[in-house]
Amino acid sequence: MKFPSTLSSLVEYKQKAITAFRNSHFRNLVISVLVFSLLFTGVLVFSGNHSDLADQDVSIYGQEAAITAQANNLVSAYGLYIDGSFIAAAENKETIDSALDILLNAKVASLPITNITSYRLRNDVIIEEGEFNPQYIADEATLYKLLGMENEYSFTFVVKSITGEAIDCKLSAEVKATGTKTVEIPYDTDYVDTDLRVAGYEKVVTAGANGVGIENYAYVYHDDVLVEETYLSTEVIEKPTNEIVERGALNADKTVNSLGILASPYHGRISSGYGYREDGFHDGIDIIAISGSCYGHDVYAAMNGTVIQACYSSGLGNNVKIDNGNGIIITYAHLSKILVTKGQTVKTGDVVGQIGATGRATGPHLHFSVEDHGKSVNPLLYLDLDK
Ligand SMILES: [Zn+2]
Repeated sequence: MKFPSTLSSLVEYKQKAITAFRNSHFRNLVISVLVFSLLFTGVLVFSGNHSDLADQDVSIYGQEAAITAQANNLVSAYGLYIDGSFIAAAENKETIDSALDILLNAKVASLPITNITSYRLRNDVIIEEGEFNPQYIADEATLYKLLGMENEYSFTFVVKSITGEAIDCKLSAEVKATGTKTVEIPYDTDYVDTDLRVAGYEKVVTAGANGVGIENYAYVYHDDVLVEETYLSTEVIEKPTNEIVERGALNADKTVNSLGILASPYHGRISSGYGYREDGFHDGIDIIAISGSCYGHDVYAAMNGTVIQACYSSGLGNNVKIDNGNGIIITYAHLSKILVTKGQTVKTGDVVGQIGATGRATGPHLHFSVEDHGKSVNPLLYLDLDK
């Protein structure tokens, strides 16, 4: 019988093994009758010729070992040794090979392992030709029993020696198999730097989503015990969606490091941005109501500071300038009312005045401007209107 290479052929192989075992009952019966007849004849012949044999010259019989063997009534056979212990001898090597194969296959078939790629006996097996006491020559059926086959459906794999000597030995298989695991592939985060925001600002623009992958593994079992797991590769079934985060890249070291993001002076929308426009340079932003009118609404301090100006000027109308430290000065202009006085300290969120349309204004709005070390900067770089 050939060694099976796949699990499906193993099942077929096991079936053949059972058939072989069944047939062996019949064969054993035939062999037993033959052996008994031969032995009976042999005893008659041997007892009749014993004196003649003793008188023969050694050289006639060739090797001295053969003489000794015959004198001790030994016979030539193949001895099976497992893990250093003598199990039994058999008349031919194929009988032992076949029995070991069948037992190994039965062992592997009994294991709860799928995707088997190869397997072998873990035991140290030696089959060696030699001279053996005839009572240690096992027939096929005996060999199966010695190797742990109770019957065609039941296997213990506990090995016994035909000599009756107690040995501690069990057939064990090393099985190699493959397997997979479904895993989540974590998403990465991609940062998009923007100079419109100070460092430290982060906002998720696209939410991340994990992907799905299948990891391939190689396994080594000793019988049903997993002894080695080797990661081989990952197949991507579903790619992860990377998270995209907008990140402030404006260098805040010099001035706004301690400033952070300004609080919103008024929760509105921008009606006019910072920069050049038809009537000249606009050094701040204009904020109006999201809906309805902003007139008379409170204006809040965008950060802690000290009021350095609280008065009416021709262009800015009623305006409040607050020194926020670190070179930052913020102006709130076109107010209908000023609610702080020069020299007063204010905290973020304190009301400094109310929105109006004083000075050079076409309608009610808050003019909000930021100076950084004497230089006009875009307030949007520091301002989060949602805060
Ligand atoms: Zn303005």
